[in-house]
Amino acid sequence: MLDAIVLIDTLSLWIKSYTFSLCYPADGDRFNTRRHSMAATMTTTKQHTDFSKLSKTRESDWPAVLFFIHIHLLSIYAVWLVFTEAKLLTILFLLVLTLFATLGATIGAHRLWAHNTYKASSELRIFLMLCQTLVGQGSIYNWVQQHRLHHAQFKTDGDPYNPRHGILYAHFLTRLRKLSDYQLALKDTIDMSDLEKDSIVMFQKRFYWILYALLFILLPLNAPLEYWNDSVLSAIFLIGFLRYCLVLHASWLIESGVELWGLKEGEKFPPDSNLVFVLNRTFWPHYHYIYSNDYKSGEYGTYDSGCSTTFIKVFTALGLATKLSTLEPRTLQIAMAESAKTNKPISDCIEEALKNQTLRDEHFLKQ
Ligand SMILES: [Zn+2]
Repeated sequence: MLDAIVLIDTLSLWIKSYTFSLCYPADGDRFNTRRHSMAATMTTTKQHTDFSKLSKTRESDWPAVLFFIHIHLLSIYAVWLVFTEAKLLTILFLLVLTLFATLGATIGAHRLWAHNTYKASSELRIFLMLCQTLVGQGSIYNWVQQHRLHHAQFKTDGDPYNPRHGILYAHFLTRLRKLSDYQLALKDTIDMSDLEKDSIVMFQKRFYWILYALLFILLPLNAPLEYWNDSVLSAIFLIGFLRYCLVLHASWLIESGVELWGLKEGEKFPPDSNLVFVLNRTFWPHYHYIYSNDYKSGEYGTYDSGCSTTFIKVFTALGLATKLSTLEPRTLQIAMAESAKTNKPISDCIEEALKNQTLRDEHFLKQ
């Protein structure tokens, strides 16, 4: 009887979550329909929009609140099942799916599509597009648009993940609120022309819900039942809820990591200057927000190490990834000296110095 109740609750949540995802393809993209109906007008009147008159209030998003409460509570029960009921193969399957989804978010949506830190062959882009579908957080196009808004409006009212409100807000509370009218209008000004030319991204955007239903829900949930006879409970709770919970947090850290691993407001390292961190890149999040086109900038507190960067190097060795973009220490030194001399923003000086960057003949990126 208890199992039946749990199952009914679970299934109803899946339906709710699926409907939720249909309505809200990406965090903060909850006005999608409204946004698109406004899009034509925005395109022509963008230059005339008076941003100062738009509301900056973010209303609560109650379906999102309910959805995330359910996901987290049910994931706690899933952890119990990991130790009591689930088969080892289901646990391994959970980890593999989480890894692929995380790769789709980090080296796919973030480093390839949002920041163009390297070029990928069609085969690699298809693979990363399928991995990104496993994140269940909306299409690549929608995610990238919001991430670019985050960078463009970093630490202002236009930033949906404004770290000035603290890590809890940047990581989680922001997901419980709709975007303000001000943020929606700013989002429509983000240049997405490069992604609009990418047929794989546009294919995923167009058929997202079919891909989501197949790749994110049906095939993963079916595998433990069909291939190694695990229970329905294990399949739904581990591969359904717990996986969703893990992947969501991994993806959310891409925007909130700056609060977790970065310097706090007013903090300096070393005590007299913050510029040195650019050279040794120990505080990657700040470096990432100054220069976001470095393929080595990890999402989880690393630079030039970690799983995602290693995968990019492997794909480069296989000839699937090319034109990796990074900064040589010498280029950074020149940019920093120029910034100190002229008082120009460091990011402008980096762009200038990059024009003259030369790589050694035996350099990894030249191979
Ligand atoms: Zn970024």
